[in-house]
Amino acid sequence: MTPVESCRTKEGRLEIEADVVVVGSGAGGAVIACELAEAGHKVVVLEEGPFVPALEHGQMRPSESLRHVWRGGAFTVAFGLGDTPHINVTMGRVVGGSSTVTGGVCFRVPGQVLSTWQRERGMTHLTESALEPYYASVEEAVHVETVPVNMRSKSTEHFVRGAEARGLVMKPIARNTDGCNGCGRCNFGCPHVAKMSVDVTYLPRAAAKGARIFADCLVERVIMKGDRAVGVEGRMANGKYGKPKDAFVVRAKRVVLSAGAAYTPLLLRRSGITGVSNQTGKNVTVHPGFRMIARFSDEVRGWAGAMQSAYTDSLEHEGITLMGLFVPPAVLAATMPGQGPELLRRAGTVKNLAIFGGIIHDEGGGRVWPGFGREPILTYRMAKHDRALIPRVIREMGEAFFAAGAKEVFTPILGAPGMDADAFRAFPFEDVKSRDIECSSQHPLGSCRMGMTPEHSVVDTVGKVWDTRELYVADGSMVPTSLGVNPQLAIMTLATRVAWHLRETPYLS
Ligand SMILES: Cc1cc2nc3c(=O)[nH]c(=O)nc-3n(C[C@H](O)[C@H](O)[C@H](O)COP(=O)(O)OP(=O)(O)OC[C@H]3O[C@@H](n4cnc5c(N)ncnc54)[C@H](O)[C@@H]3O)c2cc1C
Ligand code: SF4
Repeated sequence: MTPVESCRTKEGRLEIEADVVVVGSGAGGAVIACELAEAGHKVVVLEEGPFVPALEHGQMRPSESLRHVWRGGAFTVAFGLGDTPHINVTMGRVVGGSSTVTGGVCFRVPGQVLSTWQRERGMTHLTESALEPYYASVEEAVHVETVPVNMRSKSTEHFVRGAEARGLVMKPIARNTDGCNGCGRCNFGCPHVAKMSVDVTYLPRAAAKGARIFADCLVERVIMKGDRAVGVEGRMANGKYGKPKDAFVVRAKRVVLSAGAAYTPLLLRRSGITGVSNQTGKNVTVHPGFRMIARFSDEVRGWAGAMQSAYTDSLEHEGITLMGLFVPPAVLAATMPGQGPELLRRAGTVKNLAIFGGIIHDEGGGRVWPGFGREPILTYRMAKHDRALIPRVIREMGEAFFAAGAKEVFTPILGAPGMDADAFRAFPFEDVKSRDIECSSQHPLGSCRMGMTPEHSVVDTVGKVWDTRELYVADGSMVPTSLGVNPQLAIMTLATRVAWHLRETPYLS
């Protein structure tokens, strides 16, 4: 088990010295901590969330997991501006960050996205072959493997059959797993230590090389001496009910912010670092996501098997990726329409339900604003082109399920009834108001985007915050555009690139 020091039980002010202090222990931060600790640096990791050992995840009900492991009980919202649905943005808040609650899906940065970075953003050095050593290092560390077809859930099998009948090419998904038994609990932490999230891979390696990992430790500010970062300060969650109370200070030669796309820009702003570009907190992409539920006459038992095992990029030219998913039966029952006896009857059909999801490769339009207290306010204004794709995603997923023999579908339109094929085809999805569309995101990115010049970006391509010294960013916030696919592997790869650069960069004297 990773040795983690909880600040809940600490008393009084805490002061520590380190070579490098890493804020956040998720996909980006864990990689930085491990790579630098293994290179001999004295590393301290500060994580706001608690430490939940892998085996304890399995003892939590989903509702407990939402409360203890997910940020804000999974109720964080990006408020839709203009013709945009409100978006439920979910994140992890735990040692291991969102990596702990992923479905394990792993994608490299798609070729056409890298081309855009090269062509439109001048990052010509970020080629597939230049990134290869970093990918290889991450893929080995988190054990990326293709999900075998025999682990597919019947939910996914149904969708795949229907989608292929419509001419979509369905492909197997790669995941960071080792010994997965298909229990389907991935989003609530893997109780079998089979999902190779960073809490069971990179963080134990970092700790083995002397990194100190603190949980329940909220960083509030980067300490700057002129333009140079010299540490961070904040409060430990050692107050009543785990509220932040006693102060801590970590003085360090180098600071790396890996608090995720919603929090890294806030830390920069609260530390008075805005940069000439004024882009901090802007350009947020989220991969707006929509789910489709379908009822079949046979038993599907969609929870049995790998939650996510197939996807299609056949619609990527339009900006759409369709991807397998499932949610626990209890949560699923709560999403069904109707009340009283009708809801009860529908909940009884949970074993007959299949689910698939679709995400939009969005243009951005999201923004992280400083809130009144500690939490940010998130807003998102959908580009016209992206907004027009919502009915397209819904129609495509519904038709695939009907092609596979579904009797009824439940669309992400709030208040809409279950629909058979005729009702579905007649439904005016194009006319539905944004506020009536259920939309979620697990992939906020881009709020401190990397780039080639301080005028257009917040950090350079090795994560250094422009016009500062010894201050770096390594997390989803540096990803400069939406990827159209799940981002954890890309984030870990870019973080590895930052870490390998830092290994070779002497500290300022
Ligand atoms: C439910 C869910 C499913 C997902 N499934 C997949 C998937 O299958 N495949 C995939 O590729 N991606 C998936 N993702 C997305 C992926 O997990 C994230 O993109 C990735 O983990 C982001 O990495 P990060 O380092 O930017 O942030 P995170 O991993 O979120 O880590 C940031 C950490 O910083 C901590 N923190 C924030 N502020 C502070 C502060 N002030 N002080 C101290 N600590 C702080 C947070 O508590 C958090 O632990 C999923 C995400 C979710 C929520
Ligand atoms: S499906 Fe596999 S990776 Fe997911 S929780 Fe179960 S054993 Fe772990």
